[in-house]
Amino acid sequence: MKYYSTNGQAPAASLREAVVKGLAGDKGLYMPERIGRLPESFIREMKNLSFREIACRVADAFFGDDVEADTLKEIVYDTLAFDTPLVEVTGRIYSLELFHGPTLAFKDVGARFMARLLAYFIRKEGQADVNVLVATSGDTGSAVANGFLGVPGIHVYVLYPKGKVSRIQEAQFTTLGQNITALEIDGTFDDCQALVKSAFMDRELNAHMNLTSANSINVARFLPQSFYYFYAYAQLDRLGLAGETVFSVPSGNFGNITAGLFARAMGLPVKRFVAANNRNRLFLDYLETARYSPRPSVATIANAMDVGDPSNFARILDLYEGSHPAIADTVSGYSYDDEEIGETINRVYKETGYLLDPHGACGYRALETSLAGKETGIFLETAHPAKFLETVQNITGEEVEIPVKLQQFMLGTKQSVELPKGFEAFKAYLLEK
Ligand SMILES: *Cc1c(COP(=O)(O)O)cnc(C)c1O
Repeated sequence: MKYYSTNGQAPAASLREAVVKGLAGDKGLYMPERIGRLPESFIREMKNLSFREIACRVADAFFGDDVEADTLKEIVYDTLAFDTPLVEVTGRIYSLELFHGPTLAFKDVGARFMARLLAYFIRKEGQADVNVLVATSGDTGSAVANGFLGVPGIHVYVLYPKGKVSRIQEAQFTTLGQNITALEIDGTFDDCQALVKSAFMDRELNAHMNLTSANSINVARFLPQSFYYFYAYAQLDRLGLAGETVFSVPSGNFGNITAGLFARAMGLPVKRFVAANNRNRLFLDYLETARYSPRPSVATIANAMDVGDPSNFARILDLYEGSHPAIADTVSGYSYDDEEIGETINRVYKETGYLLDPHGACGYRALETSLAGKETGIFLETAHPAKFLETVQNITGEEVEIPVKLQQFMLGTKQSVELPKGFEAFKAYLLEK
């Protein structure tokens, strides 16, 4: 299968090229040239299948032309070494818990899949080792580092701003060792990102080593997120409640919800979607005005959604051929400020005993507001509440139990290389490798 760029100026790419490059040459996002429809018989049969079995079928529709069936199955099975259970919160609202992976956030699925697919291409082409550079403000670094941990042929450099990520976040990518190196940059997140960009543009460095990015816009991180929409539907179907399914997705860069829209385009019978935002309400404004106007993001307690210019908006536009009515027909939008997010976490906890994280809280509240008639709602619980420990504890006034997985990261020894924010020192460091 070929992948085209949403900007239409770059040549079509093979899957391997799209995965290694991430972004197309014209700065557009890669889209698969076909979205295969799965037969209705498969949709009906899903309730009798496991998560891995369902995911294999979905993966085959995207990657089946480019990866042999056995290998693809191995990649899918290896990626999904954890469950994404559907948990009842109220009679008509269900939580799709995407936080049972190694770093307790949904980004584990895409990062693990991409690492394994990249390793496959390296093996197959007998290619030299690949070095992944990733700048992080906290969460992406841990998902990528853990996703690539121990994968042969790949070395990961995580660049993070010294003193600007939480202790839990830092522990998730500085204590791993093996093929993961944490670079502690004396600067801001923007400085880290600038270093990565400069590295990709530096001829000498690129001649010296194979560099690639594991950005969330990569097709190998983005498409596998559709797996759990199918599986969530299957779980609801087992309960006999899938007649009018609504998905509510806490959204920042809009990759997660776009994967859901792809699932629908493949034939998953989803009635409609909700994009739940914090105060960064660009998408809602787009729905209301039919104009897309990016602006600087504002900081909120649901910080993984503090995005002022969501990259994947280009994919949504492309999927619906630029039609505002078609998009507004399928997706509605809601926006909540920190106070509303806090109120939701506290109230839902007191009333149902279910503890939401600040991102999931947006998703929950949007369902609560919008569900009508016979609809059943699923919100994506994108991270475990313990990842936002102080915030959540301050809201509920109760201690949050820290999962063993998270505690284990805290026990490890921090290993990092400190570097100044200038490019020369970073380049010199990499040239020695
Ligand atoms: C990244 C992230 C999001 C936003 O997902 P997008 O795909 O960027 O829309 C939501 N919640 C959590 C916890 C995240 O880490």
